[in-house]
Amino acid sequence: MWIFMPIALYVSYYNVCKESKTSASLCQDEITDRDAMTAMDQILEVNRKLRAPRGLSFREGDIAIPYMRSAINCPGNACLWPKSVDGFVYVPYILSPLYDDMERITIETGMQEISSGTCIKFVPRTHEGSFLDIQPRYGCWSFLGQTGGSQTLSLQTPGCMWSGIAAHEFMHALGFVHEQSRSDRDHYVTIVWKNIMPDHIHNFRKQVTNNLNSPYDYSSVMHYGRYAFSEDGGPTIIPVPDPYIPIGQRDGPSALDLHKINVLYNCGK
Ligand SMILES: [Zn+2]
Repeated sequence: MWIFMPIALYVSYYNVCKESKTSASLCQDEITDRDAMTAMDQILEVNRKLRAPRGLSFREGDIAIPYMRSAINCPGNACLWPKSVDGFVYVPYILSPLYDDMERITIETGMQEISSGTCIKFVPRTHEGSFLDIQPRYGCWSFLGQTGGSQTLSLQTPGCMWSGIAAHEFMHALGFVHEQSRSDRDHYVTIVWKNIMPDHIHNFRKQVTNNLNSPYDYSSVMHYGRYAFSEDGGPTIIPVPDPYIPIGQRDGPSALDLHKINVLYNCGK
């Protein structure tokens, strides 16, 4: 069943484009490119009717934060997972028994896509007090960084069963916000405010971010798609100066995503 999900989503994405009058040519370019379906497109499709559990709210579509917190950032890197004396950063996790073998492989592939290029190691929890509790709750979402104690990371089946989506949520759990939320994003993209669903304007706020002296990454697995939260099918994010640069993808962390993890966690130092 899960194999067919991306196809269904792709069809609905095509229909949104087809109905757009303002961006028909841009859409036509996009739909010839399968990479146009970003991790975030798929997450937003799954999370369309997501309601936050009691005491939580969701920012930017898939970042869970305690209700009383107003900002989604990680001041002073206080939300980072601790580094071990052996140079690795161990992120303990438990996987819900509700996942079947294929689903476990998909989720673990998302972990490996991060750990193979960084000093992050996802390890099954034994006794650790802080850990990811990965569950097929409603929607694809994560807290930002380490919250302390057990923290839920939801990967619904079948909608979130794509390794790039798992990697996206794991990057939130490592402390990363969406790429277009970077404090310097206005140099690289134009936000088309008039095309955004009014209730979702807040999802396009810039955040106070540590950009790690790294270039803006249009191909980050953390980048919104071009039509994220679109009201009428028109683009909500347009790269500048070249509007045709592909943005976002769902294949997994980009080389720059891995680089940023290495810088944030001082891997190799
Ligand atoms: Zn996200």
